[in-house]
Amino acid sequence: MIGITILGSTGSIGVSTLDVISRHPDKYYVVALTANNAVDRMVEQCKQFKPGYAVMADKKAADQLRDILSTNGLETRVLHGMEGLETVAALEKTDYVMAAIVGAAGLLPTLAAARAGKHILLANKEALVMSGDIFMDEVRKHNAVLLPIDSEHNAIFQCMPADFKPTNTPKGVRRILLTASGGPFRELPLSKLANVTPEQACDHPNWDMGRKISVDSATMMNKGLEVIEACWLFDATPDSIQVVIHKQSIIHSMVEYTDGSVLAQLGNPDMRTPIAHALAWPDRIESGVASLDIFSVAHLDFEQPDLERFPCLRLAFEAITTGGTAPTILNAANEEAVQAFLDTKISFTDIPIIIESCLSGLSSREALTLDIILEDDSKTREFASQLINSPKHAIQ
Ligand code: NAD
Ligand code: MG
Repeated sequence: MIGITILGSTGSIGVSTLDVISRHPDKYYVVALTANNAVDRMVEQCKQFKPGYAVMADKKAADQLRDILSTNGLETRVLHGMEGLETVAALEKTDYVMAAIVGAAGLLPTLAAARAGKHILLANKEALVMSGDIFMDEVRKHNAVLLPIDSEHNAIFQCMPADFKPTNTPKGVRRILLTASGGPFRELPLSKLANVTPEQACDHPNWDMGRKISVDSATMMNKGLEVIEACWLFDATPDSIQVVIHKQSIIHSMVEYTDGSVLAQLGNPDMRTPIAHALAWPDRIESGVASLDIFSVAHLDFEQPDLERFPCLRLAFEAITTGGTAPTILNAANEEAVQAFLDTKISFTDIPIIIESCLSGLSSREALTLDIILEDDSKTREFASQLINSPKHAIQ
């Protein structure tokens, strides 16, 4: 039996992971579940999966959860805070860690899993974007196994040579074709972009996801973060990654080899496929995802991304090309700007303006230590909140 800790179990990826696990009670059991503050959802998950541990972000939510669980006769130990997350990521019983916390909050527990040499199923792309070099080093140093959950990166991994591991350089690869749906505003007249609402931005045509990544998909920063993620996972350079708008989201990405072969992974857009792939790797298990009806799909379309419509994609390419802590700054500025947009403090088109102002107003440096990364992350958040709270958002 494989023991699994799910960081961010109450979110979209967390729930899909529990769905796949529940189909295979003979193979997997839950060691620990974690959430920010969704106590009710955590109670339901604890009742169903009876984990040894549950972690909530703050003490108040943890106390509340502990009371309810003990009233229900459940023996789950309840911890809280970053320390609690790091503890469950590194427990002896934890074989696999699903890293599915959204944003920078997922970095330290995912690093703890790497240092404990765990099998890491990585959904939390922000951790890799913020600290790619350090994170990959820890994976290498502690012989952790890193498997991508992001559908594109999981597809690329599936198209890589059979002996490829994310800590190696793949042989014979010429290019990566990273597909993108283009999000809900792919065809909206540019003049209307400034007035879109959080609800419209979160209404993704093909995928059902958390609110932050949904906004990222609408700005295409999600694809930008994925370009950076792919550079680290596949030892790729930014100019060897071609972003391709593929509105049907049926091809989840492609790998082109030096002999001209292009390998693609296809399937219905349902995260249970990459989750089941990574859980069972190198075997295969049932995921609950329906067969792809290729006749009803009928057409697969491909377009170049429009960088005027999607400046966030350009900013991400620039940040990874600059290197050092530039991706850390990009990520922190984006997290702050997206939250401000969701809180209706800024407009949709202010998001790239704030990120660009942070990138030009703060200087990046070599990402030599975790402290440097965390320092640049918090410096950027401060700078971004000043911009967000100033009457005119951007430094012109
Ligand atoms: P979500 O918002 O639905 O869930 C996030 C989870 O993290 C929740 O369980 C929440 O309680 C927890 N969390 C949030 N803030 C926290 C904090 N400060 N401390 C502790 N826990 C916290 O997000 P999601 O859509 O499931 O995405 C999770 C991650 O997976 C993101 O990094 C996203 O980019 C990535 N991802 C998601 C999808 C998808 O289809 N949803 C696809 C690819 C990659
Ligand atoms: Mg993705």
